[in-house]
Amino acid sequence: MNDDLSLYDEEIKFPVEIEQYERKIYDLKQLIEISKGLNSTLDYNILIDSILLTCMGQMQLLKAGIFTHRSIDRQEFVLHRNYKGFEIDHKIEYVIPANSKLIQFLDMNFKCYTLDELKDILQDEPSLESLIFLDPSLIVPLKGKGTLNGIIILADRINQKGFSESDKEYMLNIASLAGIAIQNAYLYELATTDMMTRLKIHHYFQTALMEEREKSIKSSLPLSLIMIDIDNFKDFNDTYGHTCGDLVLKNVAMVISGSVRQSDIASRYGGEEFAVILPHTEINEAFKVAERVRTSVQKSYILYKRKKLGVTISVGVTQFNPSLDSTSKNIIERADKALYISKQQGRNKTTVLLTDK
Ligand code: GH3
Ligand code: MG
Ligand code: MG
Repeated sequence: MNDDLSLYDEEIKFPVEIEQYERKIYDLKQLIEISKGLNSTLDYNILIDSILLTCMGQMQLLKAGIFTHRSIDRQEFVLHRNYKGFEIDHKIEYVIPANSKLIQFLDMNFKCYTLDELKDILQDEPSLESLIFLDPSLIVPLKGKGTLNGIIILADRINQKGFSESDKEYMLNIASLAGIAIQNAYLYELATTDMMTRLKIHHYFQTALMEEREKSIKSSLPLSLIMIDIDNFKDFNDTYGHTCGDLVLKNVAMVISGSVRQSDIASRYGGEEFAVILPHTEINEAFKVAERVRTSVQKSYILYKRKKLGVTISVGVTQFNPSLDSTSKNIIERADKALYISKQQGRNKTTVLLTDK
């Protein structure tokens, strides 16, 4: 009789189990889709957006943010500017030191935590300060190659429910995928960045120019190119030495990246020559950017042995013309020719050339 009852019990549990398995299969399918999405880009900003939007969509959230390494050689964690929904005090820098107890704890304990749980565990730990300001409801560590490489913060569920254990488990699965994707993007960034100037390397420039030419043809949107060369740099090196020359070169690179938009691609073309690709930009606008870079370099200086030292640059600008530029070589040569004219006309100038004549 008892045996019969247990059999009956099994039978009524069956539909519940099917539902659970169906839910698990659905979750796994979702994770495969998320994995495909996160692995389809190596562009850091696109990836961060993709991670945050995935978390928001999957967990039905209004706020999501991510702390990642500040740069390829700065290990502290900063709140990435692509955060969603959080109200940020722009006077505060949201930083978590790399060697802090919080980072060490999350590195050792790969789990989701609420802010209250972390406060209880870490007590008055100063590195919690940024999180306390932002007041997230869930904190999720990310790992790539076995070490912590990011922290996702989530808040404000649309249904106003808390996070269940299975939500936390699901979030941790997303975090594992996101951590690997961030690690890949980091390695790509490392391999395509010139470590001296922090601009893109020559090979990256060539690939990007080819891609942007194709995009420009497909979209019929304009594309411009700026070439830059430091004036009389050999003399500068001869007078102040190569070490000082290197400092100036780094400063010029910093001014260039600070004077162009996020979507522009600034690269070190070679030695003391730079190139900037300006997608969706026609020549008049590119000329303005070039002049902004040139005048900013002219105004900037470094302090070396108590002396203010600076250089000027000569600039060449051109616009991609599909009927003239069947290869990247054509457009680069035209920008170079414009640069050469700037040199001939006395340096510290910007020249525009639209045709090859
Ligand atoms: P111009 O105005 O005609 O460009 O004169 P220039 O002396 O700058 O001539 P050019 O562009 O041909 O010279 C390149 C010089 O840049 C020579 C080289 O010593 C220096 N240079 C190239 N790369 C570096 C670098 O990484 N560090 C330093 N310090 N100097 C570099
Ligand atoms: Mg040169
Ligand atoms: Mg030069």
